[in-house]
Amino acid sequence: MPQRRIHLVRPLRFQVKVLEDRCKGCQLCVNVCPRHLLKPSNRTNEKGYLVIEWKNTKTMGCIGCGLCYEICPEQALRIYAEVE
Ligand code: SF4
Ligand code: SF4
Repeated sequence: MPQRRIHLVRPLRFQVKVLEDRCKGCQLCVNVCPRHLLKPSNRTNEKGYLVIEWKNTKTMGCIGCGLCYEICPEQALRIYAEVE
């Protein structure tokens, strides 16, 4: 009987980076994130906008859905996947 090869898929973790100099503080990403990981920070960028910050959680972390990336009108978000 032929043997079957099994591919084990390792879980992925995601990191979101905010390019603060591009952010205009519109908060569209805040409202779209299903995990509520994006929040206004207490920092302003050089243009005077209150920038967003991303904070992951261990229990309900980023799922890499890309909604924040797609909705951002300033292309201020980057999503990175890393293998655990
Ligand atoms: S959608 Fe983009 S520009 Fe708007 S707050 Fe989020 S990161 Fe900043
Ligand atoms: S990729 Fe999805 S889960 Fe992760 S921060 Fe963006 S909207 Fe939230």
